[in-house]
Amino acid sequence: MFQRILVANRGEIALRIIRACRELGIDSVAVFSEADRGSHYLELANEAYCIGPAAATDSYLLINRLISVAEIGNVQAVHPGYGFLAENAHFAKVCRDCKIEFIGPPHQAMAQLGDKISARQIAMSANVPCVPGSDGLVDNVDEAVRIANEIGYPVLIKATAGGGGKGMRVAGNDVSLKAGLKAASAEAEKAFNNAGVYLEKYVERPRHVEVQILADTHGNVVHLWERDCSMQRRHQKLIEESPAPNLPEEVRQNICNSAVRLVKGAGYTNAGTVEFIVDKDFNFYFIEVNARIQVEHPVTEMVTGIDLIKQQILIAAGEKLPFTQAEIPCNGSAIELRVNAEDPENDFRGSPGTITKLRQPGGLGVRFDSHVHEGYTISPYYDSMIGKLIVHRPTREEAIACMKRCLREFTVEGIKTTLPLAKKMFNNAEFVKGTVDTTFVERTW
Ligand code: ADP
Ligand code: ADP
Ligand code: MG
Repeated sequence: MFQRILVANRGEIALRIIRACRELGIDSVAVFSEADRGSHYLELANEAYCIGPAAATDSYLLINRLISVAEIGNVQAVHPGYGFLAENAHFAKVCRDCKIEFIGPPHQAMAQLGDKISARQIAMSANVPCVPGSDGLVDNVDEAVRIANEIGYPVLIKATAGGGGKGMRVAGNDVSLKAGLKAASAEAEKAFNNAGVYLEKYVERPRHVEVQILADTHGNVVHLWERDCSMQRRHQKLIEESPAPNLPEEVRQNICNSAVRLVKGAGYTNAGTVEFIVDKDFNFYFIEVNARIQVEHPVTEMVTGIDLIKQQILIAAGEKLPFTQAEIPCNGSAIELRVNAEDPENDFRGSPGTITKLRQPGGLGVRFDSHVHEGYTISPYYDSMIGKLIVHRPTREEAIACMKRCLREFTVEGIKTTLPLAKKMFNNAEFVKGTVDTTFVERTW
């Protein structure tokens, strides 16, 4: 087993990993940028090293500095969290070349699944349904027009290296397709250093359903049921829950088994998520794999009782999964709310600043995963998510009541947050019915 682990991330996920290490009796080595200097969560690690200025490109994304800290800190493994270098296959390879275990999949599997086009090919060969689309990259406008007319409008232009909802454009006709291709490609080049785009049929009003996977290095692959993440704005998730409401049991089993098949065919290990969209007739289509731990992993932890970060560490250390598929329960209903430092009244503009007052909710079935506290200053340099409020109750109805109760208790002052929007969402009749699709937020508010 590892004695020391480098936590190559910041904020709430760094804290989450530090906590798991502590419970496993493993020392954690944290890193921070100058903007995060003095953050309280760093004191909970065994050691912490400054790796550069605030901009992520000068700190959290610098592989050479992270490897230096790994050497100085004498760690045996690196946990990348999510975002930053978590899905960077080169980083995974460099770590292992330096004899430091990367807590994630093999770099080859990560590279293959991280690219959306090659992931589609793997899905197809595993007999997993994909959204109708182009066979590969579209690099020529005339060809794109021909394919789009074949698939039928509307189509979605997607970046093959995409993530975080960036580089996506809907096109309803030839004219908007031509304009959209240029814009999406430029955005992808800027965000991912890869201009490659492809086409998918735009599925109207789908739900987003994803499956949590764990795979050990002994050939065992299990799913930990599904999460519904349909409450989104700009293709970014706001609320996630498990199990997915109103999903017929047969469809649910099919989706979960498809995810396991796909991962088995890819030589994948560690934790991962297979994402699908589901249309109104419950046809489901693979969209992508997230080859890392996800923001919304706590809802799965609540319903299964399995600590996913600990499992990631144990798998990376070569241990066998301690349970079989049949031994993984799905108890009750868990819902997560992402709390962002953003102004929902002003197009979700980021709202950095100091939290002057914080009263967080508590009580039975309530979990708040966050690195912030009263007096904490949110810097403008990073993701605006400041925490995740998770509730777990025996039924979905009770979970929603619990969340509404928590939102009454929750006070954050000094910055704008998405909490006012959260109140509207949890009081919304469609949400309560469990019939929200991914376009709901934008159509409704
Ligand atoms: P999740 O489903 O886990 O929420 P997201 O797509 O929202 O996944 O990504 C989680 C975090 O990782 C966000 O902070 C997002 O900005 C970041 N992220 C995701 N993909 C990439 C990428 N390819 N490059 C850089 N950042 C990414
Ligand atoms: P990212 O890597 O940015 O997370 P995804 O491929 O996972 O990109 O898509 C993000 C979201 O965009 C999905 O949850 C869904 O809401 C929407 N989406 C993706 N593909 C389609 C599609 N073919 N039709 C309709 N909506 C889609
Ligand atoms: Mg996605």
